[in-house]
Amino acid sequence: MTDVIIVGGGIAGLAAAWELVASGRTPLVLERRARPGGVILTEHVDGFVIDAGPDALLIQKPAAIALCRELGLSDRLVPTLRPRTAFVVKHGRLVPLPEASVLGIPTKMRPFATTPLFSWGAKVRMLMETVIPRGPGGDESIGSFMRRRFGDEMVTWLAEPLLAGIHAGDVERLSMPTLFPRLVLAEQATGSVLRSLRSMQAPPAPDGAFLSLPGGIGEMVEALVARLPDGTVRCDALVSALAHEGQYRVMLASGETLEASAVMLTTPGWATAPLLEPVDGRAADLCREIRSVSSATVVFAVQRARVSHPLTGSGFVVPRPERRTLMAASFVSSKWPGRAPQGFVLLRGFVGGAGDPHVLERSDEEIAEAAWEELSMRLGIQGSPTLTRVYRWAHATPQHEVGHQARIAELDARLAGLPGLFLTGSSYRGSGIPDVIADARLVATRAAAFVEQR
Ligand SMILES: Cc1cc2nc3c(=O)[nH]c(=O)nc-3n(C[C@H](O)[C@H](O)[C@H](O)COP(=O)(O)OP(=O)(O)OC[C@H]3O[C@@H](n4cnc5c(N)ncnc54)[C@H](O)[C@@H]3O)c2cc1C
Repeated sequence: MTDVIIVGGGIAGLAAAWELVASGRTPLVLERRARPGGVILTEHVDGFVIDAGPDALLIQKPAAIALCRELGLSDRLVPTLRPRTAFVVKHGRLVPLPEASVLGIPTKMRPFATTPLFSWGAKVRMLMETVIPRGPGGDESIGSFMRRRFGDEMVTWLAEPLLAGIHAGDVERLSMPTLFPRLVLAEQATGSVLRSLRSMQAPPAPDGAFLSLPGGIGEMVEALVARLPDGTVRCDALVSALAHEGQYRVMLASGETLEASAVMLTTPGWATAPLLEPVDGRAADLCREIRSVSSATVVFAVQRARVSHPLTGSGFVVPRPERRTLMAASFVSSKWPGRAPQGFVLLRGFVGGAGDPHVLERSDEEIAEAAWEELSMRLGIQGSPTLTRVYRWAHATPQHEVGHQARIAELDARLAGLPGLFLTGSSYRGSGIPDVIADARLVATRAAAFVEQR
């Protein structure tokens, strides 16, 4: 019998295992796929380092960087290359985001006044933010919050492609206090987001906002698995059912049954729901209600000489009025060092999300062709890519929509009545890697304490 069975070998499951081992427990991670890491996947092809899923660790939230340090990767953390300009497509052109912006919100007058991203009327409306009264508080969508504070153009050209875009979501459905509590607190603190952001303004961090690893984010997964005791992670182990009779019984699709004192489900809401069903139907319903959207990343390698755009920045986002296929694109080899051999660039497009729910019904060839057509048009690229890769992410991006916090509070209350059963992962209390790691480790300490008590 195992102390704690962890279902799902994404970063949540692996970080939970790491914490449990540190607490002296013997966890077993069961992962349905042939490899651990979940949506974290790095491939090395012909000298290119390709992050198929996430590629950046946010410095401001320290849990991911802290884990890298514990894994002995301190010396390998690399900042983004300069310049770190992000572009927004407007009228077919790539317009740089105004300098000194916080989550896209310009905090300095000069770059804001001169940006062609907004009309003069919109700029006046945005400046009026400082005199607009505080909202009532409570849950509301990103669209509602940003429109109320800054007006329509801020939603169209910034909030939708940037803030909702990070989550491949619908700006009118994603929850502002859940995803961007910092801006909500800024409003509550002084009555004005702009005023608060300006007062908090610190000189730009020398390392920028993100770090990565020379071998891609996959390096973190490799280091984690290598440092866990042998046999902790079992791949090709699809968990098909769960039962609770004193102990937890975990049934695998292979027919095998395992027993454990505690179980941590780190799977996405839609995958967790059927496992929870026999244990607590209402908890299963709550997990099922957490929507997830599908997307694909499309990676192209191109000879540098064929690209007319200088690629001086990290990439661009495409607001709805300009959207064809791409939600966004990264200039990977301008963003991170060592991603492409000399004379080549690596580019990555994002397609799908809430605005294109049928994206994965198309073949890889169709997805790549549409993405290439748009990318080559926007960046002025001649000829064809020397390498193309399409990565499909079915239901991989959870949507923390208005009502999410209330749903999670109810879910937590139900779990309190199910001793030994724990839930973590990107569907629940944070969806970026740092939040996922922080929550997984916190929940793992509770699982360790539960086993200890028994
Ligand atoms: C394209 C993309 C880009 C992203 N970019 C960034 C970024 O740059 N920075 C950042 O911080 N975040 C980013 N994210 C978000 C971040 O990567 C994820 O939130 C995080 O990796 C999720 O980890 P997880 O372990 O919760 O889930 P997952 O990685 O989805 O892992 C869940 C695991 O459970 C397994 N599983 C499911 N059902 C079963 C079952 N029944 N039995 C056994 N195993 C099962 C799955 O196979 C999977 O491996 C990105 C996400 C995507 C999709």
